[in-house]
Amino acid sequence: MKNIQIKGDRLWDSLMEMAKIGATEKGGNCRLAASDLDKQGRDLFVRWCKEAGCTVTVDKIGNIFARRPGKNNDLPPVMTGSHLDTQPTGGRFDGVYGVLAGLEVVRTLNDAGIETESPVEVVVWTNEEGSRFSPAMMGSGVFAGVFPLEEIQAKQDIDGLKLGDELRRIGYEGTATMGKPVKAYFEAHIEQGPILEAEKKPVGIVTGAQGQRWYEVTVVGQEAHAGPTPMAVRRDALVGASRMIQEVNRIGLANQPYACATVGFLQVSPNSRNVIPGRVFFAVDFRHPDDAVLTKMDKELREACAKIAAEAGLEVEVSEFWYFPPTPFDEKCVAAVREGAKLYGYDNMEIVSGAGHDAVYMAKVAPTGMIFVPCEGGISHNEIENADPKDLEAGGNVLLHAMLERAQG
Ligand SMILES: [Zn+2]
Repeated sequence: MKNIQIKGDRLWDSLMEMAKIGATEKGGNCRLAASDLDKQGRDLFVRWCKEAGCTVTVDKIGNIFARRPGKNNDLPPVMTGSHLDTQPTGGRFDGVYGVLAGLEVVRTLNDAGIETESPVEVVVWTNEEGSRFSPAMMGSGVFAGVFPLEEIQAKQDIDGLKLGDELRRIGYEGTATMGKPVKAYFEAHIEQGPILEAEKKPVGIVTGAQGQRWYEVTVVGQEAHAGPTPMAVRRDALVGASRMIQEVNRIGLANQPYACATVGFLQVSPNSRNVIPGRVFFAVDFRHPDDAVLTKMDKELREACAKIAAEAGLEVEVSEFWYFPPTPFDEKCVAAVREGAKLYGYDNMEIVSGAGHDAVYMAKVAPTGMIFVPCEGGISHNEIENADPKDLEAGGNVLLHAMLERAQG
């Protein structure tokens, strides 16, 4: 199968053609979910798929499925895809690459006249970004049964427009069955981090997605006048919180490799320059691919906060706000990706996804694997997001092999 190759130029040209829709001044893209520009992007994708001989269906949450029939169309499809929606100042590759790499696989199978045993499908998931409508990964989440359909249809943007109404308006509220069986799901995506580039590896074999634990921490001391209150008797909630934040960072560093620990949100009360802070609220985001390590980090956080509060005469409440367990991908799918990289002779490494992807929800209902390719400087969710056409081609070839392997077996 080594001689079957995708056409890197054709993939690149399609990416650049799609990038014209919602192009921004700084070279990025703005195609917010269920907007007029999203419709234009979807229409272009659908046109290309029909030209490639696919039949196209849309489900009630606007997910698009382009199907290339196989020998046995009673078998569930081998599926690939990602999303076409972007952040308001997004890039040309995040999501779009996975969709158009899937289309390139279909075009390549057509060129080579290959009939797969199982049908092959390319999917566009609705609102992966979670920018116009929150939360993120809605289309794949509804498909995988994580969110109820009606709840997601009713989500509103800041103008009070509902996602369900907007999908109907742009012509993408369909009738296809929600949550059909899928034989295997693959997603090619830019890494959105700096590791592959630094290691000079064009292909990342994604073994799974990190688990996440999010917390809300409230520290309570006593508000007092910044002048007459001597240092020794103060119960300064911000001084305590700052020590706790240092601990969060220490816990992240102490659980390498892989651990991430972040405080990105802080509210100080009353937030007045001559008042000793009486109350501080901050958010903690812990990530790790191993649940046992996340549990250890949880214990370390709770102990550190309790100790600091006791020493400083403060009260502290640490409450878990969200928990997303680590998601190991399917062994056979990961192996198919690894084999593909080997077959084409691409330098590669195993990698864990630090971000959420549609594949993480799909892993709940189907054997799933992912392929990462490097992006320049590890930067995404930014108009300057960039990727090397050669790396995109490499990821596409690996995707082709992995899908063929699963669609023939
Ligand atoms: Zn994405």
